[in-house]
Amino acid sequence: PRAVTARTDVVVIGGGQAGLAAGYYLRRTGLDFVILDAQDAPGGAWRHMWDSLRLFSPAEHSSLPGRPMPPQPGRTYPDASHVIGYLKEYEERYGLPVHRPVRVLGVHRDGDDLRVETDSGRRWARSVISATGTWWRPLIPAVRGREIYRGRQLHTVGYRDPGEFTGRSVTVVGAGNSAAQIAADLAGHAELTWVTRHPPRFLADDVDGRALFAAATARRRALDAGEPDPGGVAALGDIVATPPVRAARNKGLLRPVAMFDRLEADGPVWADGTRVRADAVIWCTGFRPALGHLAPLGLRRSGGLIPTDGTRSVEEPRLHLLGYGDWTGPASATLIGVGLPARDAVRRIAALVRTGGR
Ligand code: FAD
Repeated sequence: PRAVTARTDVVVIGGGQAGLAAGYYLRRTGLDFVILDAQDAPGGAWRHMWDSLRLFSPAEHSSLPGRPMPPQPGRTYPDASHVIGYLKEYEERYGLPVHRPVRVLGVHRDGDDLRVETDSGRRWARSVISATGTWWRPLIPAVRGREIYRGRQLHTVGYRDPGEFTGRSVTVVGAGNSAAQIAADLAGHAELTWVTRHPPRFLADDVDGRALFAAATARRRALDAGEPDPGGVAALGDIVATPPVRAARNKGLLRPVAMFDRLEADGPVWADGTRVRADAVIWCTGFRPALGHLAPLGLRRSGGLIPTDGTRSVEEPRLHLLGYGDWTGPASATLIGVGLPARDAVRRIAALVRTGGR
């Protein structure tokens, strides 16, 4: 990659949907900024998701600010390739200055600026927006016997399609959307065991991303108005009954069993001695925010998270965190939800830069 050595008002780290939404609002402020993205092409994490994945919501409810996502011909719920095309077109349409591939290695305090060290040079900025997502930090729980199990182990991030698992015995671990969708994808192709730590909570069939976003928005309004917390999305359930998940469940192919005690060489073993032979274990056990590049700032507190007020770091007001989950804005880790926190972050940054931080 081309070496970069420069100073701008703002550096945005990450060129997925969250970084682009920030770019959309930054463009309108007149601040100068760059977006640094570690990948060599647009699309963020969507470039790596499995083939059968479908959005939770129709296209018109999956839009970033300014530009509605067009429908995907023949599909109400678009696939990942459609999202990638949309993000590519979005950054072109708004002329967003995305530099690729540039990986940020560390963010440091440097007088009035933050210094951004990358694999192709240094940059200085008055303010940094970190929008690096979670896909890059897959989480696998510490389960006894993982190192002696001889089958294949992969995380959600390594799954593409049922192909290599056809006719095999596969254990899927996890109670969330990824587990349910991957289990549904494998059901009918593989001999499936679906293991969950607590019983999976399916949302009603008519609850999709639209309803989830409405719940998140209602919650934000109630909290902003000082009303009691109505409970957010989590109060409704976890798993969106997408058409393939619903079909597999209605055929009786999705029958979750309790979590096993340990892995042995051939597969999982439960506390009562029950065992299942497994050719593969797929860990659909979630993600952590990809915040390693912020380590030099020393902002992490208990649970590994950085305390924020909205998107802004409490201890380092020149830093904003965007798109990582509800802790950085309600529904901020969704296409439709990242717009509002992006707008708020950019407003606060514009005020900071104009007043010289005082
Ligand atoms: P990412 O897409 O991960 O983009 C971050 C970018 O930052 C990447 O390009 C990455 O390479 C780059 N980066 C990371 N670290 C660095 C670094 N140090 N330096 C430079 N660049 C870096 N949302 C919906 O709205 N609808 C859905 O249906 C939906 N389905 C989902 C299904 C799954 C399986 C998952 C995991 C998530 C889903 N989401 C959905 C949630 C969310 O929309 C996606 O996770 C989305 O990819 C988040 O976008 P992002 O921009 O925050 O992060």
